[in-house]
Amino acid sequence: MLNYFRSGLRLKLILLVILGIVFAFTIIGAYQVYVEKNKIAEEMRHSGQERAEMIAEAVANLLVGYDYSNMESLAERIVRQDDVLHLIIRNRDGKVMVSRNKPSLPEQATLSFTAPIFFSGESIGKVDLQLSLARMQADLNRTYRDVLLAQVFFGLFLGLVIFFAASRVIVKPIAIISEHMKNIINSQETDLPAALQINSHDELGDLAHIFNTLNHKVFTAQQRLREKIDLAGSALMKTNEQLQQRSQELEQRSQDLEKALSLVEKLAVTDSLTDLRNRRYFDDNLAAAFARAQRFNEPLCLLLLDIDLFKQINDTHGHAAGDAVLQALARAFKSRTRETDISARLGGDEFSFLLYRTNRDAGVAFANSLLAMAQDMSFTFHDQATTVGLSIGVACNWDDIHSIEALYGAADEALYEAKRRGRNQVVAYPFDAPPQ
Ligand code: GH3
Ligand code: MG
Repeated sequence: MLNYFRSGLRLKLILLVILGIVFAFTIIGAYQVYVEKNKIAEEMRHSGQERAEMIAEAVANLLVGYDYSNMESLAERIVRQDDVLHLIIRNRDGKVMVSRNKPSLPEQATLSFTAPIFFSGESIGKVDLQLSLARMQADLNRTYRDVLLAQVFFGLFLGLVIFFAASRVIVKPIAIISEHMKNIINSQETDLPAALQINSHDELGDLAHIFNTLNHKVFTAQQRLREKIDLAGSALMKTNEQLQQRSQELEQRSQDLEKALSLVEKLAVTDSLTDLRNRRYFDDNLAAAFARAQRFNEPLCLLLLDIDLFKQINDTHGHAAGDAVLQALARAFKSRTRETDISARLGGDEFSFLLYRTNRDAGVAFANSLLAMAQDMSFTFHDQATTVGLSIGVACNWDDIHSIEALYGAADEALYEAKRRGRNQVVAYPFDAPPQ
């Protein structure tokens, strides 16, 4: 019930209704009292005159007979009546024959009447009668009270009737509209909200209809917007996927390029037949290695190796057989070379080795180990087993070798000397001059 009146509109409505009714009933009550007052006053005037005339009639015989004692006792009895304040009986000369009065309050309202005393059609005196209006006032007060009570009860009753009627007809539909709007605002639903059901043919009905139309429009606009967002979202996702795919492709391509580049780099410094380092790589590293060895006073040896009579293998067993020998020897050379050292194929059947921190003896020992290894290797072509010999020239950064050219030249000389001495051997620089 408290909640029922807590609605601002209902509270205002009830205050307005009560104020209006109180105002209306105040006017009606005032008018009623005014009418009632006039009626009572008229009645009083009428009855007062009648009473004065009755007294005049009653005292006529007594006045003629000069019966003062009965006149006085009559006056006494009359004055004892509640509303009679003053009674004067005069003779025809206006002389007061009997006068009786009752003490009255100074502010008491009164009415005065005069009636002539007739005897045999002749005026023989007059009666003055003064009456109190206290009774009229009491009647009026009672009327006031009755009217007020009627106002209060009828006003309250009417106020409540009007309030509940107005509340039902006006406030309730507004509350329904308001509640419906709140539900829509707080709702998470994506479906079209239920239509507002107010079918009255008045402004509230119109309002509900407008609200339903508006709601429908908002819902349609929302739907369209949602569709656009979905569309944009899926387009964005598609673009994103394409971008990801493109990025993966690019990454793949970049990896392929890196691989290709490293392959190219490797090919640029690798001998394609034997997979050993090629001449370019060897020459490039020889210069740097020689400079470092000189600077740090470290021993360094260069070996130049040429296969003995290799041409015969080609000629006897074919070029492919020669290739196979080259590849097999290259694999063996690589397996024996330290990670930090370099083995390379300079071209044809010529190989070279760069041995870091290696002195002449160690260089010669390594060359001899290659020689021994090659002697242990056997190649079979057309059911014919064959071996190959190696000629190796060794040169190290010895006292009189101060340049790469000198080092290279020394190794080359040593190799030539090995060939000259009958092949399949190691010659280290400096070597004894050949007998002339
Ligand atoms: P020597 O003992 O004096 O060195 O005799 P040799 O027959 O080995 O003579 P030389 O070193 O001058 O000949 C090298 C031969 O190697 C010449 C060439 O036919 C052959 N040759 C060069 N490159 C290749 C190659 O890539 N494959 C094959 N199978 N043979 C090659
Ligand atoms: Mg050769």
